Amino acid sequence: MTRNNNLHRFPRAKLMSGPTPLERLDNLSAELDIDLWLKRDDLTGLSFGGNKTRQLEFYLGDACQQGADTILITGAVQSNFVRSAASAAAKLGMQSVLQLEERVPEMGAEYYSSGNVLLAQILGAEHMSYPEGEDEAGADAALHARADELKTEGHKPYVIHLGLGHPPLGALGYVVAGQELYQQMPDFDAVVVPSGSGATHGGLLTGLALEDCAASVFGICVRRDREKQQTRMKIVLQKLADLLNIDAGLLQEKIEVFDDALPPGYGKVNEVTRSALKKMARTEGVFLDPVYSAKTFAGLLSLVEGGKIKPGDRVVLLHTGGLPALFGYQNELMNSPT
Ligand SMILES: *Cc1c(COP(=O)(O)O)cnc(C)c1O
Repeated sequence: MTRNNNLHRFPRAKLMSGPTPLERLDNLSAELDIDLWLKRDDLTGLSFGGNKTRQLEFYLGDACQQGADTILITGAVQSNFVRSAASAAAKLGMQSVLQLEERVPEMGAEYYSSGNVLLAQILGAEHMSYPEGEDEAGADAALHARADELKTEGHKPYVIHLGLGHPPLGALGYVVAGQELYQQMPDFDAVVVPSGSGATHGGLLTGLALEDCAASVFGICVRRDREKQQTRMKIVLQKLADLLNIDAGLLQEKIEVFDDALPPGYGKVNEVTRSALKKMARTEGVFLDPVYSAKTFAGLLSLVEGGKIKPGDRVVLLHTGGLPALFGYQNELMNSPT
């Protein structure tokens, strides 16, 4: 697949401070008998970093080009995307409306008051809530209803959609990230990434394919099971390929997703995730978040154990950030034996 310049056709707001570091994890490399590297997208800048900064560069670029003055976005109560969007909006002189969905059952008080919820309060964003956590079309429709009200008040709203029926502009940020990673280190065997909406997974896979990089891209399911995620990734890659005007077939063949670390489901901390989070902190002094990056590391450990990642392999773990959520998950992390 040849590199193409279509990426430059999309307007982009500058939110990143530069390429993120790629660091070798010496202690874990020795322990796991692999050559393990960490791509520090927890350090993308803009309010505690994370993968959404890269995605928002393209959404906000589009919003600015359309002359928007208000960003509307939906997500889980501890969503990093809504917090990052509110920061990006503030930086670019826009207002934001954040809709929080009930996506994770049976959580304690901190989940609703600390972490990203606290940060969004400080950012002064307008809040809405949505009673369902698995109704992407309904959540988007509720945002549009609010956007219509704002229009009648003379505002210029811009909706960042959750559903799959819209161009995946955010994934373009990870096409850039794939190219950035390849330039930092072209010769690795595999990269392990979280697979949620699929923007990160799909974008990185595409960016690496455009560089003719032969590495495997292992997607770790953080939101839905393997079968459902596989189906979703096919659609994401098709839509991304359409945006870039490239062939989706070659990209879709490269989808590999694993869901061992997922149960009991999205946003729920299980024992393997908790122990992966602590292992990273205690071995390398690096924090992971309980919803995404610790589950992804747990997925990597299971790929090593199952022999999919072999001794001596050079492997990159993508750290997608999400650290404020640690404080929303205080109970889940403290009341554990390990
Ligand atoms: C949103 C998020 C993800 C999932 O990324 P997608 O692009 O939605 O698949 C992973 N990690 C963190 C920290 C996130 O906030």
